[in-house]
Amino acid sequence: MSVPFIDFTEQNKVIRAGVDAAFAQVIAKASFIMGPEVKKFEDEFAAYCGVKHAVGVNSGTDALYLALAALGVGEGDEVILPTYTFIATALCVSYTGARVKFVDIDEASCNMDPVKLEKVITAKTKVIIPVHLYGQTADMDEILAVAARHGVAVLEDACQAHGTRYKGRRSGSMGHAGCFSFYPTKGLGAWGDGGMVVTNDDNVAYMVRMLRDYGRTDRYAHKFKGHNSRLDTLQAVVLSQKLPYLDQWNVMRQRVAGLYAKYLTGTGIVLPVAAANREHVFQTYAVRLKQRARVMAHLAAKGITSLIHYPIPIHLQEAYADAGYKAGDFPVSEKMCEDILSLPMFPHMTEDQVRAVTSALKEAL
Ligand SMILES: *Cc1c(COP(=O)(O)O)cnc(C)c1O
Repeated sequence: MSVPFIDFTEQNKVIRAGVDAAFAQVIAKASFIMGPEVKKFEDEFAAYCGVKHAVGVNSGTDALYLALAALGVGEGDEVILPTYTFIATALCVSYTGARVKFVDIDEASCNMDPVKLEKVITAKTKVIIPVHLYGQTADMDEILAVAARHGVAVLEDACQAHGTRYKGRRSGSMGHAGCFSFYPTKGLGAWGDGGMVVTNDDNVAYMVRMLRDYGRTDRYAHKFKGHNSRLDTLQAVVLSQKLPYLDQWNVMRQRVAGLYAKYLTGTGIVLPVAAANREHVFQTYAVRLKQRARVMAHLAAKGITSLIHYPIPIHLQEAYADAGYKAGDFPVSEKMCEDILSLPMFPHMTEDQVRAVTSALKEAL
């Protein structure tokens, strides 16, 4: 049995009628930028995350960039982030003119190591970006405590962690601001690009609202050199239809993770687990194993797609050759890049599909 990496066909069936009806209304009005649909989804998402403000933008990358800009980050500043993440976490820092400072990850969770974090802070550090990788939050209490000691802001990259909780609090709601991506394959995905900044800080919300819309205060009055980065009306409609199902879909992901554990325990493959006091919603189901290339080839021969998140840490990417790092600087991240493998994972994945993947894995081993 071939198994796709992700399949949202069932998910889309659930929301299809609602989306069609809502699209018809938007099309009848022929009003495709901003409008009440975007405001409605912003309010719903803010309530869901338990924050005061949510501001829709056109991608997770822009959410991070505009939030950094709203926090006043620019040339001469330093921003700390894990080297083991998607490249966008670093790109958004570079767009502001600030310098990226990398930190290694904790081996068990693949998230920023809070002990190593404190050693990287300097007088120039302006923001720390913990990334909630794969669907579980970083060690937020420890990171927030380090940040508070040094008077530094915390911006959560929650692009892989929609709805996941840390000590009862939703991802994105704990730092000065949190950023989400609605790229189609994320835990809450649009039918195109989209993103959101959430925050309890009135000024950050105000600045992101200005910056996403040409920095205008009135139709043709511009207070800041802003950007064009709004959440599309049609995407907001899709996201409003999906949000009520997010918790349920996360539970379904946890069920799939439970099935993987049922079939893979005892095989020597290192499985992802939730750390103490937090949830894991398995946006990505990343295992660690030996002889990855051979295992991937065997899975592919059986029609099973697996992917590597991520094969190269950012400090070793060509794009960041100018950042001043070298191989060996972040040993945990570098080791992880060699062993990690993402298996198929989506809410409606069946036990038969999980069995097809785990049988093929066992054969390969
Ligand atoms: C997806 C992702 C982003 C970027 O989001 P886009 O919507 O694709 O721009 C940023 N950070 C992380 C950790 C991501 O997974």
